[in-house]
Formats: sequence, structure tokens, C-alpha cells
Amino acid sequence: DTGTPYYFTDKFEAEKRIKPRQKFSHKGTFGHAVIIAGSFGKMGAAVLSGKACLRSGVGLLTMHVPACGYEITQISVPEAMATVDETEKYISKIPDLSSATAIGIGPGLGQETATGKMLEKVLEQIKVPLIIDADALNILATNRHLLYKLPENTILTPHPKEFQRLAGESSNEYERLEKAQAFAAKYKIVICLKGANTAVILPNGEVHFNSTGNPGMATGGTGDVLTGIITSLLAQKYAPADAAILGVYQHGLAGDRAAEARGQTALIASDVVEHLGW
Ligand code: AMP
Ligand code: MG
Repeated sequence: DTGTPYYFTDKFEAEKRIKPRQKFSHKGTFGHAVIIAGSFGKMGAAVLSGKACLRSGVGLLTMHVPACGYEITQISVPEAMATVDETEKYISKIPDLSSATAIGIGPGLGQETATGKMLEKVLEQIKVPLIIDADALNILATNRHLLYKLPENTILTPHPKEFQRLAGESSNEYERLEKAQAFAAKYKIVICLKGANTAVILPNGEVHFNSTGNPGMATGGTGDVLTGIITSLLAQKYAPADAAILGVYQHGLAGDRAAEARGQTALIASDVVEHLGW
């Protein structure tokens, strides 16, 4: 132990966290993820996170989507079960979470008032690990009392703009990192500060900088892929810190493989999903 809270996630640090699949395992061994995502015009975000979740080893996946997303989800992600909200264009009610082993919430969710109320109920009722991304982060930023309801070790995955909405303006990267450390400690949560060398910040102040990823990943939907990966790992009972550190690494690695296959410019989020695997 060097006493410094800074770490670097290389291949060794990532792979030592991987839990091998045992011969006599079955789908029940690998958990049941529930992803709450999507709204009218943003169903792609839900689909990308669902596919990434399945590609990351989960046993079962249920996608909870607005009514307009039912066929889209069933056709685009046939391996997943789909449940729908009564509302056509967004999600207004909390789904059945009784069989979930982890929950991911946020991709393409939108920020309707009723959706915010639904998120609040999830925070109050949840008994399993949780990852919050995208519009669900924006809802937290505009309904700040919800921050105090975050269960311990909840994972947040903001990009720089989302983090700014949560924690305020930073004048440089160093200040942003310090803000994130304070934020993670205050609310006892894990923050993945996304960007080049995504920083995973633990409630104890540790910062784990990621080594994988490339600028080809600066394109719509790649963040939703990360949400699916981490939801999958949480559902498989990876500890939140390990799920965040390993998930961020594997996401960047898949992005690097995708960039090698077709170049950074042409890379789209679906390519990242297609290159997942370990
Ligand atoms: P989002 O903005 O939510 O779609 O998330 C974008 C994803 O792409 C995050 O996982 C980022 O870490 C990743 N990403 C964006 N730009 C870069 C970059 N220049 N280098 C590496 N990864 C990046
Ligand atoms: Mg995003």
C-alpha cells in the first residue's frame, strides 16, 4: 500500500476480478437483471443497454419499458423478457422488482415528473444493488432530496455534463475529480466519471483510472452499453466496486476491439456490444 488513493486498471487488475463460470452452474447462478429504461424516441438506449447486459453474462434479463417500447424490445432483444408501463410514451409506475438481483435505471428514460416519482419509489423499495445513469441522473440533479435516498454503494455513471448538473461547475479536471471524491464520500456511493480514462471513485476516496477505450467511443449510445454491462455484473453478485472497475475496463476493451475492426470514425455503440466478451 503506497498510501495514495490512486490506482490504474490494467489487464491484470481487471482480470483478477473476473469470477470464472463453474461447470455445474445454471442460469439461476448468474442472477436476474432488471433494466428500467426507454421513452418514446429513445428506445435505442434501452435496447443497447439490454444487449450489453446479456453479453456480459447475466442469467436472466427483464427489460421494463413504456408501452410504446414493447414490440421494439421483444424484437430487438429476444433473449430478454419485457414488461411494460401503462403509459404509452414514458414510464410512470414502479415495476415488480421481487425477483431482481440487480437493477439498472436510466438509459433513454426521459425526465417526466411521473418518471421521477417512479425513481423515488425504486430508491425507497430497492433491496438489491443499483446502477443509475443518464436521464435518471438528471432527475437526481433536479430533485436533490433523492440523493439522500440513494442506497449505500449505488453506482452512478455520469458523463462530464451530467456530473456538472449533479455537483456543480469545475474549472479543471483535477477539481472535478476532487468534487467526485467528496460526492462519493458524502453519499457513500460509487461514481464512474466517464470520459477518456474513466475514473471509478469509491466511497473511501480510492480512484481507479481505466486504461482501455478510445475517442471512437465518443458517439451516442456507448454510455448505455456501459450501464448494461455493470447491471449484468451486479446481478451476478460482483461487489459494486468490482462491477464498476471491471465493467468500465471491459467496456473500453470492447471499444478498442471494435475500433481495430473498423476504425474509430465508423464505430457505433452497437459495435461495442458486438465486441464484448471475456
Ligand atoms: P455517454 O456520454 O453516456 O454516451 O458515455 C460515453 C462513453 O464513451 C463513456 O463510457 C466514455 O468513457 C466513453 N468515451 C467517450 N469519449 C471517450 C474518449 N475520448 N476516450 C475513451 N472513452 C471515451
Ligand atoms: Mg449516457
